[in-house]
Amino acid sequence: MECEILVVGLGVSGGAFAWALKFTNVRSVVVVEKNSAPAMVNSSPMNNAQTSHEGDTETNYGLKKALAVRKAAMYLRRYVDSKNDRTLSRKTTRMVLASGAGKVAQLEERFREFGPHYPHLSLIGPVEIGKLEPKVMEGRRPGVPVAALLSTEGYAINYQRLTEHFLQDALAHNPEMKVFFNTGVRSVKRENGMFVVETNHTTVRARTVVFEAGAYSLHFAHKLGYGLQYAILSVAGSFYSGGRLLNGKVYQPQIENIPFAAIHGDADLLNPEDTRFGPTTKPLPLMERHQVRTSWDWLRMGLLSPRGVRALVKVLWKNKLLGYVLKNWVFDLPLIGKWFFLREVRPIIPTIRHRDLKLRRGAGGIRPQIIDLESGSLIMGDATIVGDGCIFNTTPSPGASVCLANAKRDAAAVAAFLGEACRFDAEAFEREVGEPATSH
Ligand SMILES: Cc1cc2nc3c(=O)[nH]c(=O)nc-3n(C[C@H](O)[C@H](O)[C@H](O)COP(=O)(O)OP(=O)(O)OC[C@H]3O[C@@H](n4cnc5c(N)ncnc54)[C@H](O)[C@@H]3O)c2cc1C
Repeated sequence: MECEILVVGLGVSGGAFAWALKFTNVRSVVVVEKNSAPAMVNSSPMNNAQTSHEGDTETNYGLKKALAVRKAAMYLRRYVDSKNDRTLSRKTTRMVLASGAGKVAQLEERFREFGPHYPHLSLIGPVEIGKLEPKVMEGRRPGVPVAALLSTEGYAINYQRLTEHFLQDALAHNPEMKVFFNTGVRSVKRENGMFVVETNHTTVRARTVVFEAGAYSLHFAHKLGYGLQYAILSVAGSFYSGGRLLNGKVYQPQIENIPFAAIHGDADLLNPEDTRFGPTTKPLPLMERHQVRTSWDWLRMGLLSPRGVRALVKVLWKNKLLGYVLKNWVFDLPLIGKWFFLREVRPIIPTIRHRDLKLRRGAGGIRPQIIDLESGSLIMGDATIVGDGCIFNTTPSPGASVCLANAKRDAAAVAAFLGEACRFDAEAFEREVGEPATSH
């Protein structure tokens, strides 16, 4: 089979990219996905935190990163709003809760910095917090100052449903697009200017390839000789269930020097009668969570080399991650894990009991964080490698929130790869999902 554009992987990134191709004049597109349905890996609502990140309540982001994420997330908001689908998204409140004079002062400082850029943000006290989230104030020690940074513009999103929408729209626009499920890419090579991609069913010859395959994007980049200085640190995130406790999302302030978000709580989009707490931060030697057979591929990604081990030690040391990671490992252990996790949740829900919490077995994905083996540094956020006629997207959080911004960038790049006959209409993209000039 031959095509102009081959897309490998149909999670939310692959779906968004396939959709963005409607703003090009390319019709010869093939999408392959190794699973039997879209978005069963990290984009499944069981496996991620279901947040459309906007930067206002993510205290692990500085202002510059927050604003970049907001710009990207706005595309997603407009698309999601246009669907008017209750199984796709829910508007929700999001708050960062601070307890104790020091943390409240930090939150006030953050509000001063972020407030002018996020007009819907407000700083609220115990009474307003109690009205929105009664369980957060119940049983709280009197006399300890409490405040929250509140966003009324939070969106919880089912990224799997979103992928289905993208795919449906893409196919409606381009009936020539071919989508193959149960079709996993085994190998890729370059031959006479074409990519020759072997799957378990067939061989696809493509002029351009976009890998939207999570951690496997870097695996295939390595096969083509790209990104060899990068390795994957797979950071799994588990969730606990707590029952009906919260209405929206409640974050805690960032743990100092730790680049990952602190544990938060939110009402599950799939079942608002349940509150999820997490995600934890637990490195695992896997490419995909709960798929033990992917450990072999992970082992060959470069972290288990002398250079890799040196880089890993440097990353753990520099980011003060060792103690944090060990603590997070404990959370998944039988019996004692729940006791330790309870201590993390009590700052959010003071009255929560040991018996209220239940580890969600089989849930929680993997954030494929990239480690630069040359500099020994951890690259936070999603990472893209652009080769000659090929793109590789590796997408830890907030990869889902920024999927349309990435798709816009990549559709433009692919159009450029294909030469003058191919166009990407960036203006039409903006008209459809860009931020209206009047808002913010
Ligand atoms: C615990 C946790 C919480 C998170 N919370 C958030 C959040 O709240 N907000 C947010 O924006 N992001 C969040 N993220 C990140 C987000 O889940 C990812 O950025 C997003 O789902 C990535 O989408 P993707 O399509 O790139 O990858 P995936 O969803 O992992 O999809 C990759 C696809 O490629 C397919 N594939 C892989 N290899 C092959 C192959 N060889 N051949 C064919 N197909 C292949 C897979 O089967 C899969 O369907 C979170 C992640 C985790 C783990």
